[in-house]
This record gives sequence, C-alpha cells and structure tokens, in this order.
Amino acid sequence: MKILVLNSGSSSVKFQVIETDLERMNAHQDQTLATGLVEKIGLSDSRLVLKVPDRKAYTDYREILEHRAAIDWVLRILADPEVGILGEVAEVGAVGHRVVHGGEAFASSVIITPDVVQQIEDCSVLAPLHNPPNLRGYYAAHAALPDVPHIAVFDTAFHQTMAPHSFLYGIPFQLYTKHALRKYGFHGTSHRYVAFRGSQILGWEKDEKKLITVHLGNGCSAAAIDRGKSVDTSMGFTPLEGLLMGTRSGDMDPAIVPWLMAMEEMTLHQVNTMMNKHSGLYGISGVSSDMREIIEARAGGHQRADVAFRMFCYRVKKYIGAYAAAMGGVDAVFFTGGIGENSPEVREWALSGLEYMGIELDRHINDGLRGGEGEISSDGSKVKALVVPTNEEKTIARDVVRVLNGIMPSWEPPETVSP
Ligand code: AMP
Repeated sequence: MKILVLNSGSSSVKFQVIETDLERMNAHQDQTLATGLVEKIGLSDSRLVLKVPDRKAYTDYREILEHRAAIDWVLRILADPEVGILGEVAEVGAVGHRVVHGGEAFASSVIITPDVVQQIEDCSVLAPLHNPPNLRGYYAAHAALPDVPHIAVFDTAFHQTMAPHSFLYGIPFQLYTKHALRKYGFHGTSHRYVAFRGSQILGWEKDEKKLITVHLGNGCSAAAIDRGKSVDTSMGFTPLEGLLMGTRSGDMDPAIVPWLMAMEEMTLHQVNTMMNKHSGLYGISGVSSDMREIIEARAGGHQRADVAFRMFCYRVKKYIGAYAAAMGGVDAVFFTGGIGENSPEVREWALSGLEYMGIELDRHINDGLRGGEGEISSDGSKVKALVVPTNEEKTIARDVVRVLNGIMPSWEPPETVSP
C-alpha cells in the first residue's frame, strides 16, 4: 500500500510516500518512494521540493496561501507524469499524520474521526504552536482525499505508559487534575522506532530487554524503555526539559525564572524565549547551536565551545546512569538523531566512564560510524551500544498499516491517578 505521510507545520508541509505492508515492515523492507516539502506557505514565493531516489531533486515556486493549496500542489506533483512517482492520485491508499500532542487521550495511533479531531483540538492548549497546524494539514488532506483513511500518530503516545511516580511533578496534585500538568515526553515515534529497529538488529524480541534510547538532534531526549514500554523520558510537559539541546536549556532550577524576572526585569515572554531559543549549545558557546560548528570551534581552542560540548555529553551520561538505575539495569543504549548518528565524539564522551556498568565502546568502530546503523560496543561489552538512524515517517507509515489491520503496539492504556 502507498501511504502519504504528512508533517504539517504553520508554514510548511513535509511529506513522504512510503510503500509498505505487514510483510514488508516485518522484513524491514518498506520503501520510501519520495520525500519533499512545501515551505513558506502564506507567502508569494512558496517553494515545493520533491526528492525521488536516484533522480535530481525537483523544485518549483508559486504563491501558496494555505494548507489546502499546498496539499493539492503536492498531490499534483506526485502524480505528474514527468516528475512524479504515482500513476494517479488514487494510488494513495491512506494518509498518516504526525500530531505532536495527544495529551492523556491517546496512548497509540488512531483513525481520525470527528471525535478524534475534537480531542486533538482539546490537546491544543498543551501544544498551541503545533496541534493547530497539524490539524490544518489534516483538514486539507481530508478535503483532497476524502475516501481514504487518515491516521493520527502522536509524538507523545509512546510515553503514555509512564507511571504516575514518573510523570508527576512535585507540585500540588490539583494542578495535575485541573490542568493535566505533568510530564508527557516527545520524540515518541523516534524512540519507538529506534527501540524496535535496534532490537531487530541484535536479534532480540522487541519486548524482552531494558533499553535506553538517546535521540540527539536539534531537540534532544532520552527514554528508558523497559520491555517495550517507555517508563521515563527526559522531555517533560514541554520539550524544554531534560538534555541540553541546540538552543534549549534542558534541566535548570525553576527558581531561575522568577529570579531573572526580578533582577533583570525580564518579562515572562522574554525568559521563555531565552530558555527555548537562546540557551543550550548556542547560549553556552556563543558560537552556534549546530554541533558540527561546536566541535570545530573547540578543536580550534574555543573554550566556551568546549564547555558546551562537555555539558552536552555529561548530561547524556547522567541520564543514561539515571535510567539504568530506574530500570534496575540496562541491556543496550541506542543513539539516534543528527548528532547521535553522526558524531563519534559525542557518543564516546557520553559513554566514557560507564565501563563499571558494563558499557564498553569499540573506539575504532565508533570512530568509523557516521550516518549508518551498527554496533559500536566492543565484543565483550555486557551492555550493547548501537547507532540506529531514526525514521519517524516510516514509523508513521507502519502505524497506518497496524491501525488498518487492527494491530497496534501492545502497550496498555495509561494508569490513571485517582485524586
Ligand atoms: P537533527 O535535528 O536530527 O537533524 O540533528 C541536527 C544536529 O545534528 C545539528 O546539531 C547538527 O550539527 C548535527 N550533526 C549533523 N551532522 C553531524 C556531524 N557529522 N557531526 C556532528 N554533528 C552533526
């Protein structure tokens, strides 16, 4: 089945066409037929890029004022006899939509119905910048393809297996019952894919081991996955919590917020912007939010780039230790994301000193692995370490197949807390 996967933002729509079915996904043989995006929606020079394996990228410009026109453009190009990959639009059998926040309502992927739309709208208060454009993409795609199933796949759903002792914050309980103020976690689609694929590479059943998945990209998060279930993750109520990121602070003392408002006379908005956009690798180094530039600068003797790099790796190590303790051990650590997949330096620093836990890196293999998948731990390492390139779109396409076949991941609905 050919599945259109959509990731709709406020001014962009990213898309992929993936051909998969139960047999192909079990054999890891799903095929990405095309990838692309429409960006600058709402402006006169909106751009569409279509990439098809083994062909030159196709680019076009026109005025696209809203998502409906963007989706129509994508479908037209996909079915274009010269540049497209579909004989006709009707070859699209289903559409998978990335939806950022599913709150406590969604613990797995679902067919989008009017009730589901309402619940996604209700979750918009938790993700005001993401859920509304995700829904705009759905409305547009549903109008263009009304006769095929549309499936929502949530960034938060995988982490709905966390127990209350893991997801609650130490603030008055009523704030949880009144506002659903709790840890949700994000990158769930990536953690789930990487846990599955890493286990597959090692020949393990997907639900048998204790895993720590570490997604290091512009946004960064770690997850503790105990026999198939996420039991903890580093991002929280928002993606700000946890690891140091490109421009986000990650963990910090919340008392810094009122202190800055008093001492620097900053507004709440300014502090929020500072923590999300001017912090992390960028804020510490003053050089860049991009790990490649941090690594280059520290090699050239830039001290703040060096400390930013050390902070970044140190915090990954701290979370690995914490999650091993939380699960009572760990069988494997999987690295993914732009940094996790491409930076042997970060992986080496993050794992250094963890030999006492049974994690031993093969330096030579680690140094040679950039961009591919494979094991980076030494032969004798008790705990395996792997690089597993993430593929969120493939997970979305696979969930479409799972939902349509009545098979969904075997995790259970979240525990509820009685007040
Ligand atoms: P992502 O958000 O997953 O696309 O990851 C983006 C991050 O990956 C940026 O910080 C990039 O600098 C980083 N990255 C990409 N390639 C490399 C590389 N070869 N070495 C170190 N970091 C890299």
